[in-house]
Amino acid sequence: MDIIHLLPDSVANQIAAGEVIQRPASCLKELVENSLDAGATHIQVLVRDAGKTLLQVVDDGKGMSETDARMAFERHATSKIHEAADLFELRTMGFRGEALASICAVAQVEILTRQEEDELGTLLEIHGSTIVRQEPVQCPKGTNLKVKNLFYNVPARRKFLKGDQTERRNLLNEFYRIVLVYPEVQFTYIEDDEILIDLPVTNIKQRIETVFGTGGKQPFTSQLVEIRTDNDLVSIYGFIGKPEAATKNAKQYFFVNGRYMRHPYFHKAVLNAYTGMLGQDMAPAYFIYFEINPETIDVNIHPTKTEIKFADEQMIFPILTATIREALGKFNVAPSLDFNTDGHIEIPVIAHPKHTSFEQPVITRQPTYNPFHSSQRITTPHDWQQLYDRPSAPIRPSEPALPIPVSFVDLPLVQLNGKYILLPTDEGLLLVNQHRAHINILYDQYLRRLQDHDGQVQQLLFPDVWDVDRADLPLVEVLVTDLRSIGFDLTALTPVSYSINGVPAMLAGNSTIPVLQNILDIIRDLGLSAQQQWHEKIALSMAQSTAIPYGKVLTQKEMQHLLEELFALPKYRYTPDGKNVAALLSQEQIGRFF
Ligand code: ADP
Ligand code: MG
Repeated sequence: MDIIHLLPDSVANQIAAGEVIQRPASCLKELVENSLDAGATHIQVLVRDAGKTLLQVVDDGKGMSETDARMAFERHATSKIHEAADLFELRTMGFRGEALASICAVAQVEILTRQEEDELGTLLEIHGSTIVRQEPVQCPKGTNLKVKNLFYNVPARRKFLKGDQTERRNLLNEFYRIVLVYPEVQFTYIEDDEILIDLPVTNIKQRIETVFGTGGKQPFTSQLVEIRTDNDLVSIYGFIGKPEAATKNAKQYFFVNGRYMRHPYFHKAVLNAYTGMLGQDMAPAYFIYFEINPETIDVNIHPTKTEIKFADEQMIFPILTATIREALGKFNVAPSLDFNTDGHIEIPVIAHPKHTSFEQPVITRQPTYNPFHSSQRITTPHDWQQLYDRPSAPIRPSEPALPIPVSFVDLPLVQLNGKYILLPTDEGLLLVNQHRAHINILYDQYLRRLQDHDGQVQQLLFPDVWDVDRADLPLVEVLVTDLRSIGFDLTALTPVSYSINGVPAMLAGNSTIPVLQNILDIIRDLGLSAQQQWHEKIALSMAQSTAIPYGKVLTQKEMQHLLEELFALPKYRYTPDGKNVAALLSQEQIGRFF
């Protein structure tokens, strides 16, 4: 006797419902997603008894024809994909065609729907997969779907539901995950006949504020910093919490292509960026939106679709960390930036004292400090700003005092071998290496330009083309910002090349490509995660490439100028990589020759 038979649809649907519909919140998700897919501009959610007796979603979307309305409740009935290949180009929220069939299998469903062009709409009532009523009705354009007495026919599942408070929270959490991605849609949430949440059409930042901003003394969004990055691989946009605003259970949201997702791996990338800035058990808030080619992600690995697999997640990880770090660093330069001025974050230019004499106060701002050097890690949350402006770690040897004259104007200077500048002083003969002296001067200038974004550009008559290795693209995307800030005028030519339209004024005359290539080699060694050290290395590399070479004959004026600038630096004695710049041949040493 044959014993295998196909299950009746109603049973199959009930089983499937176990996967897709676990609780009122999953129902809410599926229904609201359908409304969004139908192009609704206003979506109302009505809830009674934590969704256990009623969950209703009313939209003004495109509605359904009579036939479609019936079809919609069949398993694997969907208007959204036609063939397997479509699965890889998903742009809609739904695609499985399982939700309505599942909901109908385990509840009493009533639907009113009308398409714009139809005069009459359709009323359909379905109890546990069976159509109990169908008639034409007058109703507004769109779809109005009531799910009553969820799990009325599956007592075991109904018992499985949590208390009202928990289910209520689940519903709201699900609601937040959706409304945070669709600020252009108006949402209303009505609980037991009372309007609980009303969200007008707005932008993402304001939507976050309306959803979470209630209660605090300050706007919730004043605790957040904007992040943004854009490259071939992925676009990332969003807001991250300031470290000092971290809490024990911060709001943390990832979205990809308009869909909420959980992503423990990217979560680590975020936390990475906060290393050393958070107190014990404290977590930063984040609202991070990824836009990525849908072919490179797989949303189909989980029935509720919150676990999403990224093909390039190992490349995205460091980009995410670097983007957040950069935002935190910028924020620190401008702690009082006004979050409400839309657009990019303004970085105030820090004025640098002009050095006219040596009595000038010593400059204490040390941009060379490396915050990610483990021995210098600070762990209290209040001190995190210092990570970015603590005094420099002494990469250069300590500086023994040299006898420096007050002014160089009338001193006779001698150039030796096109290499050294000789300067008689009371203590002896001071020797200065001209190339290294210039490196120090330029290093200081480049570093400042990198921080203040005020590089001067020398436009090129004939733009150069910089071809980039594909493997270096994620690095270069980030690096380009730094290069622009020291005066490179770069525009993307193709995905793998840049047009160099201008160069830093100091670089004019040098060949550009080797300079850029050299910087890239250094950055590659450091990696994206060490972005805080990039500035120093870029500044040093640029300084080395552009410093006056050995052999260059200098005039009196040039030598005076060079020494004046050199000795005005807070650190002039050694180059950033520790090489000797100046030495003193003392009276005593000279005396010994005779
Ligand atoms: P899926 O969303 O995966 O396609 P569903 O079971 O959720 O599957 O919905 C089945 C079909 O019903 C959808 O493809 C769509 O054509 C139609 N539909 C569902 N809800 C709505 C709605 N609110 N407005 C218009 N059409 C809808
Ligand atoms: Mg759906």
